[in-house]
Amino acid sequence: MSPENLKYLLVGVVSFGFLVEKLLSYLNVKRPVPAIPDTLSQYLSQEKLQESKNYQLENYRFGLLSGIFSFVLTILFIWNGWFGLIDGWVGNYVENPLLHSVAFFALIFIGSDIISLPFDYYSTFVIEEKYGFNKTSIQTFFSDKLKGYLLSILIGGGLLLVFLWLIHQMGPHFWWIFWAIAAIFMVLVNLFYTAWILPLFNKLTPLEDGELKQKIINYAKSVSFPLDNILVMDGSKRSDKANAFFSGFGKRKKVVLYDTLLDQHPPDELVAVLAHEVGHYKKKHIIWGMLTSVIQVGLLLFLLSQFIFSETMSLALGGTEWSAQLNIIGFTMLFSPISMVIGMGMNWLSRKNEFEADAFAKETFAGKPLAEALKTLSVKTLSNINPDPWYVFVNYSHPPLLERLQKLES
Ligand SMILES: [Zn+2]
Repeated sequence: MSPENLKYLLVGVVSFGFLVEKLLSYLNVKRPVPAIPDTLSQYLSQEKLQESKNYQLENYRFGLLSGIFSFVLTILFIWNGWFGLIDGWVGNYVENPLLHSVAFFALIFIGSDIISLPFDYYSTFVIEEKYGFNKTSIQTFFSDKLKGYLLSILIGGGLLLVFLWLIHQMGPHFWWIFWAIAAIFMVLVNLFYTAWILPLFNKLTPLEDGELKQKIINYAKSVSFPLDNILVMDGSKRSDKANAFFSGFGKRKKVVLYDTLLDQHPPDELVAVLAHEVGHYKKKHIIWGMLTSVIQVGLLLFLLSQFIFSETMSLALGGTEWSAQLNIIGFTMLFSPISMVIGMGMNWLSRKNEFEADAFAKETFAGKPLAEALKTLSVKTLSNINPDPWYVFVNYSHPPLLERLQKLES
C-alpha cells in the first residue's frame, strides 16, 4: 500500500470509530425516561429519574463536544502530516535514536494533557459539582495531576524506555521480550497496588472493631476466605461515589472499603457487597482476568511487531524516513477497531462474571441485602436504569441494574 493510501485508510478508520462511538451514545441518551419499576419504588421518585436523565444528557453533550474537538485535531494531525513534522523537529535537537523516540512521546504526552486539562476541569468542577458528586478541592485536583505526572514519568517513562530500547536494539524479537516484562509488571502492580500506589493518593486506616468488622470476619470464615486486613479508604476526599475491592494474592488479602460506603449502608449490605467481591475471587475471575489481559497485550505486541519496521506508516504520517515512534502512533490508530472488538469481548466476559459473583453472594450470604445495596448505590450515582442494549453490549462492564436485581430477587 502506498503511504498516501494508508493515510486515507487511517482517516477512514479514525472517523469510523468516532462515528460508531457517538452513534451508540446518541442511541443511549435518546431512550425515554421510564416509569419507575416496582422494585425501585422505595428508592426512586420521578424527579430523581428526571435528574438522572439530565445528568446523562449533560454528560452526553459534553462528551460530544470534547469528542468532536479531539477527533478534528486527530484528523488535522494525520491529514497535514503534523506527527511527522513534530518528529522531524525533535530529531533536529536529539541525535540519539532512543532519546529521540522518548522525547517525541514526552512532547505528545504533555501536549495532549495540556489540551485535555480544561475538559477534565470542567467535568469535575462543573458537571459533577452540579449533581453533587464532586468533593475534590482544586488543590487535590492539581496535586493528583502532579502525582499522576510523576508516576507516569517514573513508571510509564521507565517502561517506555525499555520498550523503545528493545525495538531499537533487539529488532523483531522485541515483542516477546517486552511481553514477558509487561506480564511480570502487571502481576507486581496487582500485588503491590494497595501497599504502594494507593497510599500516594489516599489514606488507608484499619476498620474499627465493632459489629461490622465481626460480621465481615464471620462471613470470611464461613467461606474460608483468607482475610488479612480490612481497611477504610478516604474516598470521600474526592467523590461521593462509593466502592469496595480487595487486593493481594495468596493468604494475605486486604479488603478496602470506601468511607462513603460505610456511611451509606447498614452492616448486612456491606457484608453482601464483600460477598460479591469474594465471589470474584472464589470463581477465579481475578486470575482469569489477569491472564486474558496478558494474552491481549501479547497479541497487540505481536501485531505491532509485524508493522513497526515498515517505512510506509512513517511516511503516511508525514515522516521523511522510518521512525519507530510514528509507527507506534499509526499502529494504535489503525488497530483501534480491533481494540474495540477485544474490549467488547472483555466487557461481555466481565458482565457474565458479575452475574456469577452476585449468585455467589446470594448463595453464601443473601441476595436481598446485595440488591438493596445496589439500589442505593445506583440511585445515588444517578445511573441509567433504561440503557440502550447496544450501548450496554459495547460499553458496560457490569450488567444493567434491573437485570441484576431480577436475578438477585428471584
Ligand atoms: Zn463485581
